[in-house]
Amino acid sequence: MTDRRSFVAWLGSLPLLRRRRSLSRAPILIEATPTALYQQPDGRNNLVRVAVTGLDAPAARARLTDRRGTLVGTAGLLPTGAGLAGELWVPLSRAAGAEFQIDVEVGKQRIGGRRVRLAPPRRWTLYWIASSHTEVGLTERHDECLELHRQNLDAALARIAAHPDFRWTAECALQLISYVENRPPAAGELLARALRDGKVGFSALFAQPLTGILDHETFARLVWPAGLFAREHGLGYQAAQLSDVPGQTLTLPTLLAASGVRYLASGVNPERAAPLLSPAEAARAQLAGGGRGEWTTYPQLYWWEGPDGSRVLHWRADQYVDGLRFGFDVDPAEMGRRLSDWLLTHPVLLSPGYPYDVALLSGAAGDNGLLDERVVANVEEFSRRFAYPRLIAARPEDFFRDVERRWGTKLPVRRGDTGCYREDGAASTAAELGRYRAAQLVARAAELLALWDEKTELRDGGAADRIEQRAAARRKMWRDLLLFGEHTWGGSAGGSDSDEAETVARWQYKRRFLDGAAAAADAQVAAALLRIGLSAAAGGGGAGAPVVSCSTPRAGREARWCTSPRARRGGSRTVAGSGRRWICPTGRRWPWRGTSPRWATWRSRKVSAHRTRRGTTARRSRRRPAPSTWCSIPRAARSARSRPVTAWSVSGRPTGRG
Ligand SMILES: [Zn+2]
Repeated sequence: MTDRRSFVAWLGSLPLLRRRRSLSRAPILIEATPTALYQQPDGRNNLVRVAVTGLDAPAARARLTDRRGTLVGTAGLLPTGAGLAGELWVPLSRAAGAEFQIDVEVGKQRIGGRRVRLAPPRRWTLYWIASSHTEVGLTERHDECLELHRQNLDAALARIAAHPDFRWTAECALQLISYVENRPPAAGELLARALRDGKVGFSALFAQPLTGILDHETFARLVWPAGLFAREHGLGYQAAQLSDVPGQTLTLPTLLAASGVRYLASGVNPERAAPLLSPAEAARAQLAGGGRGEWTTYPQLYWWEGPDGSRVLHWRADQYVDGLRFGFDVDPAEMGRRLSDWLLTHPVLLSPGYPYDVALLSGAAGDNGLLDERVVANVEEFSRRFAYPRLIAARPEDFFRDVERRWGTKLPVRRGDTGCYREDGAASTAAELGRYRAAQLVARAAELLALWDEKTELRDGGAADRIEQRAAARRKMWRDLLLFGEHTWGGSAGGSDSDEAETVARWQYKRRFLDGAAAAADAQVAAALLRIGLSAAAGGGGAGAPVVSCSTPRAGREARWCTSPRARRGGSRTVAGSGRRWICPTGRRWPWRGTSPRWATWRSRKVSAHRTRRGTTARRSRRRPAPSTWCSIPRAARSARSRPVTAWSVSGRPTGRG
């Protein structure tokens, strides 16, 4: 007895079983259900499940015949807990389905039968983004987490030759950048080639951000590191992945579209996220599920439109580790069972609002997980066995291009934000969150002040190098700010034991990103103001070089003089916005001290007189900085241009306004 069929026949022939069967009086129920699984090579045969209840036997056999009585196939039925069940391939090529006769036998005796009509379910194509979720500092220390993602990329590059159809995708640009920075140049080149050839997927967001705590300038740089990386290596990108963050601000599609991203795949962990549909809208779309009154809108597929009308095509799912959810690490049969159950029972996929025959899965390993190579083998074996669902280990854009080509103009358009529900975790460290906001403002000031680098830098052979070094320091500053705004807040035990040693250590590591960025921003602003002051004092400024007052405390028209005698004695030009500390050109910080109304009036008249007198000549002779000195961000450049510009004399008095 070497196979299942002969084993079932032998079981059924046992005398003991015949006696027990004769004692059974329960009615026998026979069910036949087509699955979502179709046989290779042509997808004509559907795997039909036959279930029998009420039969008091350890095993049985189902015989399926067509309307003409021709035997289609047989299935051995074995215990499943609720009864007996088995599967067999049935040709289901006609959309309307066909009628069949099912007979159930135990041994050689027919126990029952039923005539059924079987209709073929949709033939699905499932695109699967094989990636590992980036949780910087959740499961291990930050650098150890990134090393795991580098190892995933090592494995992906090594796998290409033997598995040419398998695609690994870096979930965010941080994985790629970290790889190139930490592996030998040859490995970096290999990665760039794989990205260029489409063998490895490129997701353009730098990391998985909490968009609700990012200042505009930091938010605007979410794709910037990916852009720099792409330009450096001659690459392009079209898609972004965003996992484990329940919602994003309403301007995210605007930012993505403006940054060259057309497609967004998100897996949101929606335990607190507000769905985009109201309950009434969900009911209209027949999304009331489970008979318990709850409803779901996931997955969603729509054009997400920003306030300016720009759009990204957005797949919004509630999961991001689909590989493990659907048993990709178990075996192809288990994968088939779980995928089929999902495709045939999920209320969204069954609803009239989901007419598509494609869906997107994402995730091949857990948080910071290494890919188990058995997953690759199982996916490939699944595809050898089943024609449908067609399971494609793909890059995000492979799915979206297919969707856009087939349904692009018919897809719904949605506007608005999706709720910033993970941002409350950041409030658990309120002091650092406050420092983060302040550091982002100073970083913006540093970027604006850098617009005058070329005008204020000493004219010697090293000027270009010094300017570039400062630009590199600012790039690192923004990167640290982005890393601090990444969604991981504390270690995996942080929620239950925030004082646990490892949690504290990981938090301290994360805080280093904030400390580093804040220190860099402060240093850049102080040094820039000093250069500006020295440049003006040396006559390098005057009417020819516009010298800017920093925007941070909103100096401009409402600026008041610092009355600190030390500041004036030191010849420093120190102004203060209301209630804010100000960094003077000497690099010192001076607290703002209120001035008497009388003094302020006198000062205001004096300033006004100076401005009137100097304004005419200053405007006439003022030259704009060369275009290259302007910030590359159009909005920032415009705001810098339109901001009141004040030039300072040696004595620290305002002498002109551009
Ligand atoms: Zn996460």
